Order: sequence, then C-alpha cells, then structure tokens
Amino acid sequence: MRKLIDLTHVIDPKTAPRKFTVETIGAETVNQNVVRLAGQWYIMSNISMVSHIGTHIEMPYHLFPDGADLATVDLNTLCGPAVLVDLRAVPAGQPITVPALEAAIRAAGGIRPGDIVVCNLGYSDRYGTDEYGKSPYFTNEAIRLLVDAGMKMMAVDAGGVEIPKSEQHVNHTALLEKNICLIENIAHLNDLPCARFELCAFPVPVAGVESFPVRVVAAVEA
Ligand SMILES: [Zn+2]
Repeated sequence: MRKLIDLTHVIDPKTAPRKFTVETIGAETVNQNVVRLAGQWYIMSNISMVSHIGTHIEMPYHLFPDGADLATVDLNTLCGPAVLVDLRAVPAGQPITVPALEAAIRAAGGIRPGDIVVCNLGYSDRYGTDEYGKSPYFTNEAIRLLVDAGMKMMAVDAGGVEIPKSEQHVNHTALLEKNICLIENIAHLNDLPCARFELCAFPVPVAGVESFPVRVVAAVEA
C-alpha cells in the first residue's frame, strides 16, 4: 500500500510573508455567459502574487535567460526516486561542509544517479518563525558534491541554499546550469518514515516564468 505525504506549506493569504493577495469576484464578471443571482455564491478569484512564495520550485530560467521555464521544464526531472539526507545536526547559521554532508549521505544509504535529494535541515517545523531565516547554508563544494552524485532535483526545508551575500549566486548557478530544479521551503519532513520514497512536484506550466508555488507529494510504502 502506498501512502501519500504532503510536503507542502499552506499559503494563507492573510499571513503570507510575501505578496499574495486574493480578490474575490463574481463569476459573471469574468464569463459573460454566467448568470449569478443576487446574493448567490458563485465566485472566481483575482490573484496577485510573487512567484517565490510558500513551498515553491525554481527553474533554470531564474538565472539563465535561455534556461527552461515552468512550461518547458522536463517533467521527468520533477518526479521519481528521492532520498532524505538528515542534516539536522548542523548548527544554525553554520556552513554545511563536505564531510558533514558525506556522513549524512552515508547514513541515508547513499545517493543514486537520478535521485531527488531532499535535505532536512530541521527547519520545516519552524517555517514562519524568526528562527527560520537562521538555518545552516550549503558550501559550494557541498552543492557540487550533490550535483556530481547525479542528483536530478534538490529540495530543502529553508528559504534557500545560497551562501549568504553571494554576489554570483554560486549555489543556484551550480544547480540550475545543470537543469537541476530547486524546491525551497519544503514542509513536513519529519512526517517521512523512511529515507527513500517517491516524490512528485509539478508546477503549472506558465510560459516565461521562473518559479511558482508547487504541491510536493511523497509516496511511501506503508
Ligand atoms: Zn525562491
């Protein structure tokens, strides 16, 4: 029996940390063929939002004008076998070094070529708190180790993977130049009962857009 586990933070427009506004409108204002009686609840929504909000996925187009966007990304890279790498022992604000990462990968049973690598920094339960921004960060050598291991997508329970104040965005570059998409703010990692599972994260295909909120779902053998 397969059990689905939702790895997505709820976006509540009332408390969203970035722009996400919902204007409720009557369906008849969009579709002239709709009849909406006075007082009838038959609504649509005008949504205005920043593309990097909540649990979201970043495409190569984020950094590369010729890179794949939400509409052209290869779907094969967005689902498949995943491995959970436990990095919760790295202290807040500290770099994730190659030796620490190697030890965590070993403990997870290794990375196989084509794996989606989900890094658990221990912050998915602190989303929305002041502590959340103080998570550890990846050294460029650590990111390259994951890339060289054949990782096809990366996910992290933090607002990003970048070295603080990196002007060249070296960690984003190392991923996106290899068409490795990045999921930020992945949620509920402590609900995963095992280190290996299947993961799917399909954003809507919007042409010319670099990132979008995404529903991330893990399937585990129960
Ligand atoms: Zn982002």
